[in-house]
Amino acid sequence: MKKTVFFSVLFFNILLLIIATFLPRAVASQTQQARKIVYYSVENVLNVKNIPDEQLPIDALSEAIRYWEKSNPNLKFIQSDNPSIEIKWQKYASRTHLGLATCMSVGLKSEKSVDLRQPEHCTLDISLGASDCRGRFVQSDENMITNILMHEIGHALGLRHSQEESHLMYSPESPQTPFNRKGYAIPNKLKALYVGQDDLLTQETKLKADMDSLDLDITQEKSLYDNYYQQYKHYNGQTLSESDYQQAKKITTRVNEQANYINKLVSKRNTLTKKINETINALGCYPNFNVRR
Ligand SMILES: [Zn+2]
Repeated sequence: MKKTVFFSVLFFNILLLIIATFLPRAVASQTQQARKIVYYSVENVLNVKNIPDEQLPIDALSEAIRYWEKSNPNLKFIQSDNPSIEIKWQKYASRTHLGLATCMSVGLKSEKSVDLRQPEHCTLDISLGASDCRGRFVQSDENMITNILMHEIGHALGLRHSQEESHLMYSPESPQTPFNRKGYAIPNKLKALYVGQDDLLTQETKLKADMDSLDLDITQEKSLYDNYYQQYKHYNGQTLSESDYQQAKKITTRVNEQANYINKLVSKRNTLTKKINETINALGCYPNFNVRR
């Protein structure tokens, strides 16, 4: 009888010991899992020759990191000589990709469980621009490089592609499986263009608004001309009294002046049409940025 009690008490003590040893460790490992430090390195932009704005890619990287950290306060990016993410700059995009993440993964390698794999080390190739229709280099704007960086960092965090076009992780070569955000809050994609493209788009919008307002003027002036012309027609070919003759002369002058004024507006319209076409052509020469990442 006494023996039983002894064993029972011992068992209870062991259990307490187990709880005391494992409980703090379990809590600590949970906190560690939630906080994720990503060590990265970045290539010197000067390694890429003849980049019009060398500061722009550096600013884009700060932004990309800021957006990821802002969306995920548990995530921290630290520059390191022993990085898990190596960022490399490429001057031109390839024909199909603006950026490329080449990762070595750990975990299960069968196709079905590809989502379970966690990249261990990734090299991110980030393009800084592309060729326009005349073969000249056009630099990507800060937003575009930020988008490419955020997308490729997403791959380095283990994310795959989304089918949704507005999604940061979108790619036309989208998988059939639904997007798995793996617990991350995904930053929004920014409006991205090439350097200089935004100015041209603004110019195009302004020129088109000028054209609309000019067309309205021309319509109004034409209706005034029609009015004068009707008055002129009334006198034309008639035998007139002196006062009517003077009136007819006045109307004739008015018709001619109005015709001259409209011709000036039409010539202004032709100049504007030429400028709009030049802007559209310049925009059309920009690289097609609807390529895969
Ligand atoms: Zn991708």
